[in-house]
Amino acid sequence: MKDVTPEELAQYSHGIQIIDENKDFTQKLPVYLQVQKLLTVGFNYHVVAVFGSQSTGKSTLLNHLFGTQFDVMDEAARRQTTKGIWMARAKEDSKDHGKNILVMDVEGTDGRERGEDQDFERKSALFALATSEVLIVNIWEHQVGLYQGANMGLLKTVFEVNLGLFLKDRNTTHRSLLFFVIRDHIGHTPLKNLQNTLLADLNRIWDSLTKPPGLEGSKIDDFFDFQFTTLPHKLLQPDKFITEAHQLRKRFTEGIPPGVESLTANGVESTKDGVFLPGYHRRIPADGFPMYAESIWEQIVTNKDLDLPSQQELLAQFRCDEIAANCTAVFNETITPFEKQAQSGKVLEGLGPAMKQALSTAVESFEESGGRYHKGVFQRKRDDLRHALETRLRSLVVGQLSALSKRSVGEFTEEVTGILKKANASNASAAYDFAKIVEEAKANAVSRFKEEADSCFIPGETTTWSSHDDELELLEKDIDAIASRLRGEEMKRLVIRLEKTIKTKLTEPVELEFKRMDSTLWDRIWKAWTLTIEDAVQQFETKSRSFNATDTEREVGVWRLKKRGWAVLKAKIDEEVLEGNLLLKLRENFEDNFRYDEHGVPRVWKPTDDIEGAYTRARESTLTLIPRVSTFKLSSSDSPPDLDSFLGATPVDASDDSDAHLNHEDDFEILSEAKQHDMTQRFKRMADAVFVEAKRSAIGGVAQ
Ligand code: GDP
Ligand code: MG
Repeated sequence: MKDVTPEELAQYSHGIQIIDENKDFTQKLPVYLQVQKLLTVGFNYHVVAVFGSQSTGKSTLLNHLFGTQFDVMDEAARRQTTKGIWMARAKEDSKDHGKNILVMDVEGTDGRERGEDQDFERKSALFALATSEVLIVNIWEHQVGLYQGANMGLLKTVFEVNLGLFLKDRNTTHRSLLFFVIRDHIGHTPLKNLQNTLLADLNRIWDSLTKPPGLEGSKIDDFFDFQFTTLPHKLLQPDKFITEAHQLRKRFTEGIPPGVESLTANGVESTKDGVFLPGYHRRIPADGFPMYAESIWEQIVTNKDLDLPSQQELLAQFRCDEIAANCTAVFNETITPFEKQAQSGKVLEGLGPAMKQALSTAVESFEESGGRYHKGVFQRKRDDLRHALETRLRSLVVGQLSALSKRSVGEFTEEVTGILKKANASNASAAYDFAKIVEEAKANAVSRFKEEADSCFIPGETTTWSSHDDELELLEKDIDAIASRLRGEEMKRLVIRLEKTIKTKLTEPVELEFKRMDSTLWDRIWKAWTLTIEDAVQQFETKSRSFNATDTEREVGVWRLKKRGWAVLKAKIDEEVLEGNLLLKLRENFEDNFRYDEHGVPRVWKPTDDIEGAYTRARESTLTLIPRVSTFKLSSSDSPPDLDSFLGATPVDASDDSDAHLNHEDDFEILSEAKQHDMTQRFKRMADAVFVEAKRSAIGGVAQ
């Protein structure tokens, strides 16, 4: 609410004219109540109105009773004060009593000039009854008993409009207190007599009323309580007037019991002696009072039937909407920044506690302010508010869960790859437990997710807040998928490591086997290779089992390992049969045969020796090696080994593998026809040279 200017403050010193002479209702009432610090008091306030003929000292009375400053008619000018209805807050006494009383001064009724004024009189009576708890009826002692007098006409009006109100609102309209103040009491007639006379008149008026259907048998005290008091003549007994007015004030502000008992209309002593009894309260929260009073007045002015229950409901709707808007604004201060941030898709730090705090603050403050209004409306509006806020939070949480899940997956991947990288860097044969690393990292990621997700869980009142079980399940699936990818990579690394081992283990045996290129050459090489491979496969199986690898993954690994192993062997064989290497081997073989005898002793050729024969035998036997070396085949079957069945069929999961489509058909042809021919020629030339040299040495030996 806006601040109040000093001008406005000054303007309110005489109270506020809530209804002016044009029957317009003021827009300043909320400001006035705010200035008077009454807007926030809830039900803790009272409304009292005064009734009576024009110029009977009503304003004077109120000013004395409540410390108000309502305009009083100027003695000298006899000028009539402004018509309309004024309102002012009672001034508290030194003990702070009476500060929550709103006093209404109803002006403009002149007993002598009725007619047009009668309409206003009726309207203001209705207004006062709908809003006030206590109606002070101001009456001069000499008017008591004048049944036809102006005051009696006024009371008839009050009773009539009250019956009208009851027609619409039989269940909830509260009782009112009619508080008679008998002015200029001389003292000859005791109060008791005066009040009996008044009660008799009131009952007569009541009886004379035409009651609406359903209320024919109703009694006056079904609706009203009565209290009576007297005041001495203000001008003739000024001191006494002031003392007694002061006493009377205490009945209103401090609930001090009167010297005389209250009576019901039938003269029965009332047990209630307070003035502002709870039963009289209209149950309109102070912050809703201006709106309520205004709409009541609008209804009255436009001659609509006054329907208090629906007025209260309307008021409740307006006010609850306003209150909800305020609560939402406070909620927004916390939540809107999160909603903006949420668009980044990142995890919102501190979302859970902030959300819970914002929601409970909003709902609780709504309940506090709105709870004073019409129960049904309040309940509905509360649910609406909660629903709206919950829906917004729900969508934040959906985003948060997905961000959390993404983050957990990221953390998991980072943790596992980090550990593996370190382990792999420190030790090639890596004695770490992959499955355990994965398991621990997964447990960490899942528990972090759960913790955060739990903190965002709000038991939904108006929306269904499912638990985050589904998201958790998805997260675990994602993590498992990544784990299996990492495991796949890990297994590839393992295959590469084992491939190196195979290479190392194979080099020497293969070189050794090639030293003896007899008919069992390929049998021996095949055997050496298969043993090495089987050993590697064995290692692979053991290791991959510790990874928790699946059967399929292991199958792929084994297949890949064998494929690589074969490639290693092929490379080694190719190296062995490189021209130079092979020629060397052939030469060694030839020379073993030609230059050494069967006992391994070097020959010293003599001219008589059969050099040609020896040469031919050695050459021919060596020449048989070339076709032998040229094709990888086993002696038992005279055909290549069954590599395909050793490797096994390509597993489905490896069909994308670069090795998958390698064909081994030509692998067993170690040397092509052309190469064999070439090798034969070169060998022969080399052998010929050796022969010629042998020949020469034989002759040379004779010559010496
Ligand atoms: P209102 O029109 O009913 O509000 O009456 P006012 O309070 O303006 O007073 C009208 C006149 O009655 C003023 O001249 C007052 O001085 C006078 N007046 C006030 N109190 C009393 C009272 O107790 N006895 C008499 N006789 N006159 C009073
Ligand atoms: Mg007055």
